[in-house]
Formats: sequence, C-alpha cells, structure tokens
Amino acid sequence: MLKNTEKEFWFVVGSQDLYGDEALKQVKQNAEKITASLNETENLPYSIKLQDIAVSAASITKVMKEANYNDKVAGVITWMHTFSPAKLWIRGTQLLHKPLLHLSTQVNQAIPWDTIDMDYMNLHQSAHGDREYGYINARLKKHNKVLVGYYEDEKIQKQIAAWMDTAVAYEEGFNIKVARFGDNMRDVAVTDGDKIEAQIQLGWTVDYFGIGDLVEVINQVTDEEVDTLFDQYKELYDFDYGNYEKENWESAVKVQARYEIALKNFLDAGGYTAFTTNFQDLHGMQQLPGLAVQRLMAEGYGFAGEGDWKTAALSRQLKVMSHNQNTGFMEDYTYELTPGQEAILQSHMLEVDPTLANNKPKIVVNPLSIGDRQDPARLVFDGKAGDGVVVSLADFGTHFKLLVNEVEAFEPTTKAPKLPVARVLWKVKPNFHDGVKAWIEAGGGHHTVVSLNVNTDQILTWAKLTGLEVTLIK
Ligand code: MN
Repeated sequence: MLKNTEKEFWFVVGSQDLYGDEALKQVKQNAEKITASLNETENLPYSIKLQDIAVSAASITKVMKEANYNDKVAGVITWMHTFSPAKLWIRGTQLLHKPLLHLSTQVNQAIPWDTIDMDYMNLHQSAHGDREYGYINARLKKHNKVLVGYYEDEKIQKQIAAWMDTAVAYEEGFNIKVARFGDNMRDVAVTDGDKIEAQIQLGWTVDYFGIGDLVEVINQVTDEEVDTLFDQYKELYDFDYGNYEKENWESAVKVQARYEIALKNFLDAGGYTAFTTNFQDLHGMQQLPGLAVQRLMAEGYGFAGEGDWKTAALSRQLKVMSHNQNTGFMEDYTYELTPGQEAILQSHMLEVDPTLANNKPKIVVNPLSIGDRQDPARLVFDGKAGDGVVVSLADFGTHFKLLVNEVEAFEPTTKAPKLPVARVLWKVKPNFHDGVKAWIEAGGGHHTVVSLNVNTDQILTWAKLTGLEVTLIK
C-alpha cells in the first residue's frame, strides 16, 4: 500500500456582482453541475469541492488563504463562468501557495443558435473571462497550469487527473523525509549535493543515521515475525535455491526478512517515506539489504543506493505521482550496441524495483563481489515494456538541474541465466546516439527514477512548480 494522506481539490468559479442575483444563481447551478460531473467520472483520482462563487476580491482572498492552511487541499482549480475582473484575483492569487489549475471550459458544449440572446451570451462567456483571468496569472508569473476542453470529454478529464497527481506529488514533497543509513559512497560525485537547498526548493528533509541505529532495531525483531514474513514470501515468489543447501538458502533469505521488518519499523516510527543504504557502511549487518529494500520499494517507499538521497526522494515523489505503478529507482549499466538494436541495460547491484516486474519474481541468493558481507538475497525478474520517462536530479553547485529523457522500455527476448539481478531494458529517444550524448553532455547521473506511468508533461509541471531547471531529451 502506498502510504499517503487523503487529498482533495477546491473548485473556485469566477463571476462578478454586475449581472444580478438571478445570473449568479445560474452560475452556481452550472458550477455544481460541472463539479458533480467531474466527481462522478472514474477518470479523476481525487475529489473536487466547489467553493462559494468568486465575486469579490475579499471572497477570493479568503478562499485562497483557507486553501493554503488546509492540509487536505492539494490544489485549486479555477474556471471563469462569466467575465470576472482580474483585479479581484490579484491578492488571492499572490497569496495562494498551492498548485493552481486554470480550467478553460464551458457548461454547454454547443452554441444554441436558435435561442441565444444577449443574456445567454453574458452568462456563458468563458472565452472572455478566461483571457482576463489568464492575463493576471501570466503577469504575476504564477506557476499555474492551463487546460482547455469540454469538461465531459475523457481527454480533458485525463489531463485534469494527470495534473492532480502532479499537484499531490508536489505537496508530498514537503512531507518527504529521507533516512540515510550511512553517508554517500566514497569518491562518487553525482550522487552528492546540497541538502539545505533541496529542503528550501523541494521540501525534502534529509536525515543521517549511523548504521548502528538500524542494527539496534534489527536486533529487536523476533524469530516469529521473521517466520511469518518468510511464509508470505512463499506465496508471492518462486524460490531458486541455486547451488545452496536449502537450509543455508532459507537462513540467508530470513536475514533479509528481518531487515525488511526492522527497516519498516524504523522508517514508520520516524515518519520517513524514503531511505538510502551504502554497501560501504554495514557494521553489524550480515548482508547488504537487497530483497528487504525491494519489498519496501513495492510498498511505495522511495529508495536509492550508495547514500543517494536525491534519487531516493525523487523516487518517492514519482511513486506518489504514479500511484506506485511501474515506477522506481534505476541505474544505467551496460549498452547494447548492435546496429538497429541499440539499448541500455538497466539494473542495480540488488535493488531493482518490483513494481516494474513483468513476471513473477524469484528469490535468488548470490555472492556480492563488493561490500565484504555474506551472500545477499534479492528478487530477480525481467522488466515490463512501455513508454516512459526517466529523470535524474543533479546539483551543479549554483542550482539543481532535472534531466528528463523519454524512453521506450521493452521485454528482453534473450535469457541471461548467469545474471543474478533483475533487469530492465530500454531504448532512449530521440535515438540511441543523440539521446545518450545529450544526457552525458548535460551532466545527467547514472542513478535515475523511471516511470512507465508518469508522462513528460507531469514532470515539466512539477519542475515549473518547484522552479527546477530542466534538460528535456525527447
Ligand atoms: Mn548505484
């Protein structure tokens, strides 16, 4: 289950006093009709709550202030039913610190040529009002989104849904707490960065813990708890004993079950929804957490290896955006350079996210050549196919830069019997040579987050909300 607080969106419909009570009554009825229609559709992941019709600067300012301080509200959707003079919106818009969607729509799809008169036209003048209102958002450099379309069309509903998911992920940024077990891997550059700036710009809290703090919690886990979890593994995964005695294999897997319980207890007790480990800092542990980390990724916790807190937080961010579907931490590993088949093999030393699995994962125990510990258990599987987006956050000293590359993941057709880790394969856009070159030239890292459920527009919307510089490769 993806842990997240319940969210809703407020719908603020613009008008003005000039048209009289009867017209405002109509505006309210139509706003209620659109609200009900959007809430009834299966396409929206969160509900919409209609607020009082916005007719004065005082009422607009009040509703925006209330939206700011209500934790349930993930964003505000505005729509101009009639003309609504935009000076009324200046103060409220300035004060609003939640994501803002300006929905340009209309209650009736077609113009009723047989009956249309001046009253009708004055009541239904979204085209007029949207421009007046849009001007002030542009002038205030508001980080708002504009979506245009008839509210009953599936296409616009899906665009609203994508924006809602992005807004919720943005808001979640201020709740993301990353627990780092150990520091960054020694000597590695791209995974390091300015934690204070990340908290200022993105909301992330990044806390260090000595590995001994986790070992203490590991030691509190009982054998009964471990056995219960091990029984769940039997239901969910294939067991591949390899060359191990069954008993040795099971005890290696149970080490990971113990780590899973301890990590979850530790994270939940401190309100952490993302974490990092580092194979160079495992004092008091028998294995590098592998299977344990993968199980927590599947539950929606953000993660990245080698102390990479930026990618860990980013993966939590995208897991919220994607409802934890087909989204997780990844690492660029090995090129396929056969002409016409160019691709990149993606994996990690153990921790590949099972939300990307195309087949039933199997548990494998295998030596790990680095880290100087016992053979760790991990889930092995092949990745799913699909169009997706891969993102990475790099710190350039003066600012953060978000790298975005559109990719096409595909299922591997050749077996890899000696590969003891999960694998994901993708082709990059616009083509292998230009895409890879652009990524490297822009300074994109080897640790990324991939999602087959989030689209480029959502990433750009989030980057606009957070003020991140973006390099988009597509
Ligand atoms: Mn790595």
